[in-house]
Amino acid sequence: MSSKYIIIGAGLSGLTIAYFLLKNGESDFIILEGRDRVGGRINTKNGIDLGATWFQNNHFNLNELVGSLMLNKFVQYSKGQSVLVYNTMAPAHYFESQQNSPSAYRIEGGSAALIEKLTKNVKDKIKLGIQVLELEDSSTNILVKTKNNLFFAEKVICTIPPKLASTLTFTPSLPEDVLNVMKQTHTWMSNAMKIGLVFKKPFWRNKELSGTVIGQVGPVIELYDHCSNDGQTYSLMGFINEGLRDVSPEQRKERILEYLEKYLGKEIRDYISYFEKDWSKDQFTSCKKLKSVYMSPQYGNLLFDEYYFNGKLLFSGTETSPEYGGYLDGAVYSGINAAKKLLNRD
Ligand SMILES: Cc1cc2nc3c(=O)[nH]c(=O)nc-3n(C[C@H](O)[C@H](O)[C@H](O)COP(=O)(O)OP(=O)(O)OC[C@H]3O[C@@H](n4cnc5c(N)ncnc54)[C@H](O)[C@@H]3O)c2cc1C
Repeated sequence: MSSKYIIIGAGLSGLTIAYFLLKNGESDFIILEGRDRVGGRINTKNGIDLGATWFQNNHFNLNELVGSLMLNKFVQYSKGQSVLVYNTMAPAHYFESQQNSPSAYRIEGGSAALIEKLTKNVKDKIKLGIQVLELEDSSTNILVKTKNNLFFAEKVICTIPPKLASTLTFTPSLPEDVLNVMKQTHTWMSNAMKIGLVFKKPFWRNKELSGTVIGQVGPVIELYDHCSNDGQTYSLMGFINEGLRDVSPEQRKERILEYLEKYLGKEIRDYISYFEKDWSKDQFTSCKKLKSVYMSPQYGNLLFDEYYFNGKLLFSGTETSPEYGGYLDGAVYSGINAAKKLLNRD
C-alpha cells in the first residue's frame, strides 16, 4: 500500500499533523496505529481520563486548537477543603485553593473529545492494530514494515515516543547520536498509574471537601474531583503510588479505599464503578526497562528537528517538542511543526 505521507501513531501529535494537512488541502496520507484505538496517552473511559487531563492558559497551541475545534474548556473543581498528607506520623493538613486564579482546565466531554474531533474527517485514513516494526530507506521511498504488511511513502513522520521508537529497526541505522538521544528520552508518564471512581452523588462536595487529596506517603499520590461539567456524572480521579504496582488488584483497591475513607469518609466505598490503568504495562507507551523519573526530563532535543533517511523521515510527538515537551501542548506544537515542514512552510 502506498501514499505520499505515512504518519505513525494516532495520538495527539499524529492526529494534529493529519488535521493540519487536511486543513491545508493535503489528503494523500495514512495513519498507522499499533493499538486498537486512537488517542495514545489520551484515554477517557466512562468519563474518566485515565491518561492526560489538564492544561493551563500558557499552553497556547493546545488552547488555540481546542478553540478552533469548538470544544469547551472548564476550570478544574477545587472549592472547599483539600487534604495534604505529608508525613506518616503527623495529622493531615487541610487547605483551600485560591478560586480567583484557576490553576488548570479540563475539556468538556473529557480529553477524548479532542481526539474525537481530530479524527472526525480522517477516520478512513487510520489503520488500527498495525504495529510498525521496521523503517527502510529505499532511495525514492521509505518502506514501512509491520508483521503482515508493507507500506510505502515518500515521507514518514514517526510520532512514537522516542524511547519506544529506538526499539524499531531502522535500515540503514540512524546516526548513533540520534539513537542515543532517543534511548535517553524518558516517555512522559510512562510509569504513571491512575485510578477513577464513579459515584451516584458527589458526596465530598456535599461535605465541603474539594476532593483533592495530595501526599507522597500513602497509596494515593494525588486525587481530584473529576465530575463532568454538565453535572451528569460524579467522579474522583488521580494517581496512585507506584509501590502498589506489584500488589494484587484486589489488595491494591482495598488499600486505596481504606486510605481515602480516612480523608473523605466512608461514602468512598459506595462507588458504582472503579477503573485503573498502569501505563508501565502498556507496550505502546512504555518500554520494558522502566525507571521512575521525579525530575522534569529534557525534551525537544534539536536532533529531533532534523530530517533523516535523506529528507524522508521526520520525528514528532510531545517528547520531541522544545515547547512544553511531555505535555499535551508539546504534542500539538510538534504536530503543527511537522505539518508545516511537510507543507514546506517552515
Ligand atoms: C497518565 C497520564 C497523565 C497525563 N496527564 C497529562 C495532563 O494532565 N496534561 C498534559 O498536558 N499531559 C498529560 N499527559 C501527557 C500527554 O498524554 C502526552 O503529552 C500526549 O498525549 C502525547 O501525545 P503524542 O501523540 O506525542 O504521543 P502518544 O499519545 O504516546 O502517541 C503515540 C502513538 O503511537 C502509537 N504507537 C506506539 N508504537 C507504535 C508502533 N510500533 N506502531 C504503530 N503505532 C505505535 C501509540 O499507540 C500512540 O497512539 C499525561 C500522560 C499520561 C500517560
